[in-house]
Amino acid sequence: MTMALSRRSLLGAASAGSALAFAGAPALGETRASLPQFGPAPGLAWLTFNENPYGPSPKALEAMARTSSAGCYYADDAAERLHSMIAERFGFPGEQVVIGNGSTELLTAAAAALGRRGAIVCPELLYDQPVEYARAQGAQVIRVPLRPDMGVDLEAIAAAAAASKAALIYLCNPNNPTAMLMDGASLRAFIERVPQGTTVLVDEAYNELTDRPEESSVVDLVKAGRNVIVCRTFSKIYGLAGLRIGYALAGRDHARMIRDNLMTLLLSSASLAAAIASLEDPAFAALSRNRIFEGRQIILDATKRLGLETLPSQANFVFVRVPDADAVAKRMAERKIIIRSAYGKWTQWSRVSTGKIDDVRRYAAALPAVLKG
Ligand code: PLP
Repeated sequence: MTMALSRRSLLGAASAGSALAFAGAPALGETRASLPQFGPAPGLAWLTFNENPYGPSPKALEAMARTSSAGCYYADDAAERLHSMIAERFGFPGEQVVIGNGSTELLTAAAAALGRRGAIVCPELLYDQPVEYARAQGAQVIRVPLRPDMGVDLEAIAAAAAASKAALIYLCNPNNPTAMLMDGASLRAFIERVPQGTTVLVDEAYNELTDRPEESSVVDLVKAGRNVIVCRTFSKIYGLAGLRIGYALAGRDHARMIRDNLMTLLLSSASLAAAIASLEDPAFAALSRNRIFEGRQIILDATKRLGLETLPSQANFVFVRVPDADAVAKRMAERKIIIRSAYGKWTQWSRVSTGKIDDVRRYAAALPAVLKG
């Protein structure tokens, strides 16, 4: 089994599947009355997919309710409006912005297109859905081991990219599942060193949850015309994961390339309404950040009390070192607390998402007994 972080493979994986079954949760998609279950079943502490349960913002909810009756129409105008809002926010010409069905669609389109031109180099452990898609399309994917501290080894990535004359380097900053950030200065220096012909795709899905979002972003390098693409999402800070909307900021040629490789026409009216309203609601973004930080601190305090090592998190999840991540996930699931099981060979690292504060407290309270077995 690859250690792909895909939702599909994750839900299908024996460990995660048995954890959910053990908790008595209905399978996702199983109907309750006439509607399927959206979100976790009642009673589950849901700390597994790096979602933000505080979203959608009240303004986004209102916008969706107000516009739902126009769901019979293609939402061209709304797409244009969101497009220009994003372009204006970042000071980019419209041609350099692409919106898509979640940032995954854009990352995947970029990886698939560039993967046809040459090798893709990425860290061994990361959000790998985009590169796995490119691999399935025939791309060569070279995974570079992490540093001993679990950080991304930029030196080794630069060397692998030079040796393979890579078309693409794909990085997540912060990385998933480690939650570790590459600081802006190191990343900039790295991008300066990368050969001209190699595009660097930086997935900034969690940027708004870092201590210094602007400093840790490389959007300025896209603006400066460097060979860099940045993707962002409404899934995390704005809590719109189920609505599927994200955007890419890229040079004109790259933006065209991404557009040419998208598989869908237009976006859903609900997601557009929610995204537009979210951008107009900075108070909600601030509230999200605060709640996520509060949850993260509860996890960090609980793990520290037990002497567990954690990686420095700059996102809405924490990577915790435990004796056996699958056993911890299973014992948590017995208590209806759902966290991620092990990632492939990283059997001693357990990822826990921040979730609702009460749910995080349940994790913190259960942890001592869970570790005892
Ligand atoms: N990028 C990273 C690094 C992620 O961890 C995730 C989801 O967990 C995504 C992208 C997916 O984002 P989206 O919902 O915009 O497709």
